[in-house]
Amino acid sequence: MKEPFALINLNSIDENIQVIKKQASEKLELIAVIKADGYGHGAYEVSRIIEKNVSILAVARLSEALSLRKQGVNKPIMIFSGLNSVEDLLVAVEHRILVVIHSLFQLDLFSALPEEAMLNCWLKFDSGMHRLGLSESEIEKAILIISKQYRNVIIDGLFTHLSSAESDLQRTLYQLRFFESASRGKSFKTSVTNSAGLLSKYKCFQDYGRLGLSLYGVSPFIDSIGKDLGLKPVMELKAYVISIRMHKAGEPVGYGGKWVSNNDTKLAVVGIGYADGYPRSISPGCPVLINGKNYPIVGAVSMDLISVDIGLVNNVQELDEVTLWGPKLPVEIIAKSAGMIPYELLVGVTKRVARVYS
Ligand SMILES: *Cc1c(COP(=O)(O)O)cnc(C)c1O
Repeated sequence: MKEPFALINLNSIDENIQVIKKQASEKLELIAVIKADGYGHGAYEVSRIIEKNVSILAVARLSEALSLRKQGVNKPIMIFSGLNSVEDLLVAVEHRILVVIHSLFQLDLFSALPEEAMLNCWLKFDSGMHRLGLSESEIEKAILIISKQYRNVIIDGLFTHLSSAESDLQRTLYQLRFFESASRGKSFKTSVTNSAGLLSKYKCFQDYGRLGLSLYGVSPFIDSIGKDLGLKPVMELKAYVISIRMHKAGEPVGYGGKWVSNNDTKLAVVGIGYADGYPRSISPGCPVLINGKNYPIVGAVSMDLISVDIGLVNNVQELDEVTLWGPKLPVEIIAKSAGMIPYELLVGVTKRVARVYS
């Protein structure tokens, strides 16, 4: 079938990990973030490739962790968003999930733990992002409550999340200092940085780095692409030319007819649209790659189709492959054209698009 697909190069993930490990301190262990189905790459397939190179896998929610367990993934899995009910707690214990404690109310759930149950958790400290996390005094309180009341709960580590690692050095340094002071004198493992923090130059003392976007070969910084950082993009989004048509000067294209051609030209209609996760906010002029050459999108992105201006002289034929983003057409560039960030594009590739692994 000539339908859109996302080609996932699993070897590139391995290579990206090696590149990042080389830049980090030797002792740094990695937490691989594979939430949102591995940023659209397939959490299970990604986990199989990386499990030998990382210490912990992380997802946002319990259901994501359970799905991996059901598929036979045995590595430690951490759930960033934590727990909110006794039912979830018992399931987490049964499946050996590392839970995150970000609010004191979660400690009350522990009273439902059976005596013989063991639970490992990480405490999340709010060092300045002000989204989830315990304050300095709440951290002390949590440690006290757990050590006094819940002998079967083990605190593995203390972590925090940076709000502006890719954009604001002052704020980041403030958060790093605040975390350091909150973790001083405690014997827990620590984790601070996401991809942007890990790939930045400042010194950060931590046992585990958390690795999301960069694992998939994409830059977390606004002014660079993965290649600039030595990374290889893992996903290539592809579709096919399903029709080539003559188009007359002065005629509009697509819904709303906002784009009007200045010249007689040829258009390639490509079978991909916003129902596949190729966003409607992409502006005309955004490049697609056909037979090694960039051509601009014209007219509005529709649900299943886009139109591309290939000019009167070209080497494009019906059923030719089209690359929407990938190693030769950085997703960071496409994201800019859509007024989005690359994270959104990767996780936005819908179920209708087959994942093909190489
Ligand atoms: C998603 C997430 C990460 C990974 O961030 P990247 O920028 O993709 O590396 C790290 N930590 C937490 C808490 C997250 O939610």
